[in-house]
Amino acid sequence: MQEILDEIVATIGASDDRGKVADYIPQLACVDPNQFAITVALADGRVFSSGDSERLFSIQSISKVFTLTIALGKLGDAVWSRVGREPSGDPFNSIVQLEHEQGKPRNPFINAGAIAIADAILMGHQPKETLAEILQFVRFIADDDSIGIDEKVAQSELLTGDRNASLAHFMASFGRIKNPVDCVLGTYFHHCSIAMNTEQLARSGLFLVDNGRNPVTGTRVVSTQRARRINSLMLMCGHYDGSGEFAFRVGLPGKSGVGGGILAIAPGTASIAVWSPGLDEVGNSKLGTEALEKLVQHTGWSIFG
Ligand code: GLU
Repeated sequence: MQEILDEIVATIGASDDRGKVADYIPQLACVDPNQFAITVALADGRVFSSGDSERLFSIQSISKVFTLTIALGKLGDAVWSRVGREPSGDPFNSIVQLEHEQGKPRNPFINAGAIAIADAILMGHQPKETLAEILQFVRFIADDDSIGIDEKVAQSELLTGDRNASLAHFMASFGRIKNPVDCVLGTYFHHCSIAMNTEQLARSGLFLVDNGRNPVTGTRVVSTQRARRINSLMLMCGHYDGSGEFAFRVGLPGKSGVGGGILAIAPGTASIAVWSPGLDEVGNSKLGTEALEKLVQHTGWSIFG
């Protein structure tokens, strides 16, 4: 495994065509696109990394997997009255579908859906309390208490978040946001600004590898059925309107973020995190996707056999 990862870093990590860093969040525009990291956390507890695997990056939309998991824990199936579970086929920040579908986002992973989920888990709490709860959960699943939020990224998103504010207000106009919009957005921007390295991120996905139970710590996080469902949502909706392409090329449930990270799950086998800040046209890590494609070719981990 170490040889495979080192080879991926040597070939893909050295690529000239690295995609484009997200520049609509100014703090992300400053990130050096020449960084690259990959970590594989196996179900048996072994962890292999190559590249800049200790460098922290903004996990952005990957955090939506964690907030969905928390929302399902709090609301159960009532979550599905707030967001759907269909691929959107639209860009991550699109408002178009919301009007046709009375303010109900297609799925929990597009921005509108994740904002609706932030609203769902806020219920009756201050954003600070909810963020503490989200962080506590992420630290628990990653088994790492050092994980925190990059406040500079959060402020940068707040200052430039007109599109997300529009989505939230639009949903509120349909009566779909129950808390003050500012509180919902503050919570959303902050959880997107959680900073992790690929080692921490790979470990955080382990509960999705072993039917809802972290195979290394032995703790149960969610039921088997819930883990299955989260994985299926990641496969169908985890890469926005590039989800079909990711399933075609990689064949694993995965969630990307505009910070250039991707968390991918090989059920029963491994949790994989890659990071390369440059994005493709639809906002998914360009080299990260290529790296996963290569890893799956080497290992045969595609869920499609
Ligand atoms: N915080 C980002 C936004 O709302 C998340 C987008 C992403 O990672 O895809 O625009």
